[in-house]
Amino acid sequence: MPSPAPTGQSGRMLEDLLAVAREEAEAGKAEGGVPIGAALFDRDGVLLGRGHNRRVQDGDPSLHAETAAFRAAGRRPHYRDTIMVTTLSPCWYCSGLVRQFGIPRVVIGESRTFTGGHGWLAGHGVRIDLLDDPACVALMTEFIAREPALWFEDIGVPRASGER
Ligand SMILES: [Zn+2]
Repeated sequence: MPSPAPTGQSGRMLEDLLAVAREEAEAGKAEGGVPIGAALFDRDGVLLGRGHNRRVQDGDPSLHAETAAFRAAGRRPHYRDTIMVTTLSPCWYCSGLVRQFGIPRVVIGESRTFTGGHGWLAGHGVRIDLLDDPACVALMTEFIAREPALWFEDIGVPRASGER
């Protein structure tokens, strides 16, 4: 499946931005956590903050990758010139963060293993670049197979009875 052609910034730049989020996901995996990473950049690609899901590491279910990156960026008067980059389609909670603070653009590694609110964001005028990155797909596919209970806990979905 071809990726939508990014415009404005080159596809190469978007790949470079995604690489930072993917490093965060890899760090989370190495720590035994949920391997989702994110980074907030300005429109010129300057890094403002980066982070990864820390549900396991900190025992904090609210510490998703996007919220970690958002918090690491500190206070800003507005977010009109920012880009949220995440390895996985943002869940409803993180999609709400994007909408609440008016982040105008979200670059997404993949949405094959999980589709959150990015279609909803697009419907509200947020520019979405879905890169369909094989390395991001591999990270999540491996994690979901290895830690299904942890994954369903992270996305807040009760598992069907009879499943472990
Ligand atoms: Zn989230």
